[in-house]
Amino acid sequence: MEILRLPALSDNYIFLLCDRDSQTAAVVDPATAKPVLAALDRLNVKLVAIFNTHHHSDHVGGNRELLKHFPEAVVYGGSEDKGRIPGQQQYLREGDRVQFAGRIADVFFVPGHTRAHIAYYFPPNQPGQPGELFCGDTLFAGGCGRLFEGTPAQMVTSLTKLRTLPDNTQVWCAHEYTLKNLKFALTVDPENPDLQQRYQQVQKSRQNDEATVPSLLATEKQTNPFLRWESPTIQAAMGSKDPVQTFGRLRGKKDMF
Ligand code: ZN
Ligand code: FE
Repeated sequence: MEILRLPALSDNYIFLLCDRDSQTAAVVDPATAKPVLAALDRLNVKLVAIFNTHHHSDHVGGNRELLKHFPEAVVYGGSEDKGRIPGQQQYLREGDRVQFAGRIADVFFVPGHTRAHIAYYFPPNQPGQPGELFCGDTLFAGGCGRLFEGTPAQMVTSLTKLRTLPDNTQVWCAHEYTLKNLKFALTVDPENPDLQQRYQQVQKSRQNDEATVPSLLATEKQTNPFLRWESPTIQAAMGSKDPVQTFGRLRGKKDMF
């Protein structure tokens, strides 16, 4: 399974999973159809599945058009998103599994950004290989999604599920927000050397117009304040010793940043 990252809209990433052997592809969160159709054409592969993480238009905007070209493609989304994802046929819950290219992905229910958000995790194919996490707008490189339909407690539970995955997991989040996220992170965790170093790297990458997605979960655990609600530094910066309150205040502060 090859993974292609297709930029879309102003800062979205669409991910195309490609199986050369069977000449099939699956797409994660097609914001728009055009770059997906162009890639499918170029690779000469057929779209068999659309994996949506949540109902926002910058994640499902391409569904209808893709279905016009590939009417047999199966559209997956969360069970709680029923009625909100165009063309949805499969209603996934925590613990469900989906299949593509001989790989099986676990589905996680990760409400917070929306009340129905799900994530897809493909465990490593072979020992030593990374797993692949498609987490939409729940976990970002250096940040996390806004709480549009969920509470801090829900998001902490959701992020805990993702944080529990192996360090060697590639985090394929749906937006290029990393630089701004790390700028904010430095305001609450300024002495963190891993964060300082990451900020320098990301700044360089963005100056060269390079993508910062995927990132490694190990890096997120070290540098992403939204996975570090237990850190005494972050708790002190937020004036709380309670994980959920720390997280909630952090999210509130980021909303104003
Ligand atoms: Zn969203
Ligand atoms: Fe989004």
